Amino acid sequence: MSAYTSMAHLKFLLQEVHKVNDLFAFEKFSHLNWEQAWMMVESAKMLADRDMAPYFKAMDEAPAKYDGKGGVTTHPQLKRIIQQAAEQGWIGGAAKFEHGGLQLPMMIYNAGQHIFQAANNGCQGYFSLSAGAAALITSFGSDQQIKAFVPNIYEGRWQATMALTEPQAGSSLTDITTSASPANDGIYKIKGQKIFISGGQHDACDNFIHLTLARIDGAPPGVKGISLFIIPKFWPEKDGTLTPNDAVCAGDFQKMGQRGYSTTHLAFGDHEGCRGWLLGEPHKGLSYMFQMMNEARIGVGQTAASVAMAAYQASLQYAQERPQGRLASEKDPLKAPTLIINHPDVQRMLLTQKAITEGALSLAMECNRLYDLAHCTSGDEQHRSWLLLEILTPIVKTYSSEQGSRSASLAVQTLGGYGFTTDFPVQQHYRDLKIMSIYEGTTGIQSLDLLGRKVTMEKGKALQELLTEIGQATHQAGTYEPLKRYSKNLQREADRINEVVAHLGKFAAAGEIDRYLSDASVFMEQLSYVVIGWQWLKQATLAYTQLQSARFTDQSREFYEGKVHTMKFFFRYELPHAEACAKTLLDPEFLTNLKTSKALI
Ligand SMILES: Cc1cc2nc3c(=O)[nH]c(=O)nc-3n(C[C@H](O)[C@H](O)[C@H](O)COP(=O)(O)OP(=O)(O)OC[C@H]3O[C@@H](n4cnc5c(N)ncnc54)[C@H](O)[C@@H]3O)c2cc1C
Repeated sequence: MSAYTSMAHLKFLLQEVHKVNDLFAFEKFSHLNWEQAWMMVESAKMLADRDMAPYFKAMDEAPAKYDGKGGVTTHPQLKRIIQQAAEQGWIGGAAKFEHGGLQLPMMIYNAGQHIFQAANNGCQGYFSLSAGAAALITSFGSDQQIKAFVPNIYEGRWQATMALTEPQAGSSLTDITTSASPANDGIYKIKGQKIFISGGQHDACDNFIHLTLARIDGAPPGVKGISLFIIPKFWPEKDGTLTPNDAVCAGDFQKMGQRGYSTTHLAFGDHEGCRGWLLGEPHKGLSYMFQMMNEARIGVGQTAASVAMAAYQASLQYAQERPQGRLASEKDPLKAPTLIINHPDVQRMLLTQKAITEGALSLAMECNRLYDLAHCTSGDEQHRSWLLLEILTPIVKTYSSEQGSRSASLAVQTLGGYGFTTDFPVQQHYRDLKIMSIYEGTTGIQSLDLLGRKVTMEKGKALQELLTEIGQATHQAGTYEPLKRYSKNLQREADRINEVVAHLGKFAAAGEIDRYLSDASVFMEQLSYVVIGWQWLKQATLAYTQLQSARFTDQSREFYEGKVHTMKFFFRYELPHAEACAKTLLDPEFLTNLKTSKALI
């Protein structure tokens, strides 16, 4: 089993870059200190080493598969994984004590999840889905609903899912047609089909709680008429018995990646007997679901960074062991071949992976910290954290999944022919990663969200808060002579964001909304490079100050030198793409309008 993550990097992010210790001063997290929190993270590593990583390949080779009888057969290890994760608090760990959780900061909870995602991303999906759905029930459900479902979900006996997508409604949830007719006392009769539902009815859990979007009869059209329902496979009656509900798994989807993670087709009410329990108020379903979707988007971004990290670790190990060829300067053919890690092009591939994966994971931790601050501060500080989280969510989802795929592709390339074979894990990482830019809103949809909603929200306040944060980091880095040029470089790219937004804003102001948004994904790329540049400058500034102090207690000198070097690499090889994107966005010629789409014929 090759290494799949760097605990040193994780510790550096938690302790030094994103300062998890600050959180323990808040009452909500005052039951914890660093030693306890880190012990928890180390226990996640032990669990992943023992129960998850060894089954990464096996779960791909024996994929979850529809059994033809309304269920999905999964790898026999999955049940143990879910139970072990539940026992150690990795399903309900972030929940409040009163809901049976450990009240962990999201930073610590997701540090553990990062390890699981890197070890075996498909199996981690099962319990992160459950965690997100249970959190949704505790946020908006009645006491009765919380009592009926949440403990069983946190104990890993019941699997929860999010059931949004329908055959005709994927990106556009406004078009969902699953119907809900009032029966009695908050219970509705549900009828409809849901497709692509992850973690749908499988043999590793006893019951399935589908959080489902549907329309109550007579509801207004569009997203304002969507409500949220709890649809269990087995209905928990008041006397504690379970009655079958007419919520059936009608089939599954076989996939190029995440093959151990079931993807199902659900049929509700084919026999007129599907009961759904309204969660919260009618017609507010999509706004409630956004809680889970936003958390899931950060989760998908983090998963992408983690899977790409696993691929990077595997390719790094390979490059340190594989002899091949000689350096261009070596003329003697009788000299022993050098290790491929000594070839500059291999180093470029490895450094690109390091820059992407460690940069993306740092951004995920930034988001986890903002989530924690948004949940334990108040007033202006809380609002600021929330605004920053809002604007960073589509970025962490998109940068990590798009660049994570590129990074895993480089991992395959680093291994040469062996990378393409199933003897090595990198091809699986590469296949697993592709879905990350599709589910929880495609890259196109995330980019529309960024430019259409997040950049414009509160008259541009979220973007300005982000640029202020970046400005603070460039200012701090600029106080150290060797970092000055990088600080200036990033500040120049950050300023260019304002220039592009002002340029595009003219189209929005003139009512040309389609044109304003037509290159949203290019803007996403531009801002993403700047944001990851910010994460690298923060890491490098800290590493530089450690190197100056020459006190190496937690990490080695080489570790910090590696951080500064990777920042320089990112700024040389990656950040210039931001300027290229700006050039495209500022070009007056409009190429992606409907008229020129004739070019596609
Ligand atoms: C393995 C897997 C697991 C999944 N798990 C779940 C789950 O657990 N629960 C769930 O509810 N769903 C799930 N999904 C569904 C997933 O969220 C959707 O596939 C995704 O949202 C895209 O919808 P679609 O497939 O219908 O593609 P479409 O919406 O048809 O999109 C096709 C293409 O058109 C683009 N596009 C669409 N609309 C626009 C627009 N307005 N502007 C610009 N471009 C646009 C998209 O970006 C995309 O490139 C899963 C899907 C898969 C494959």
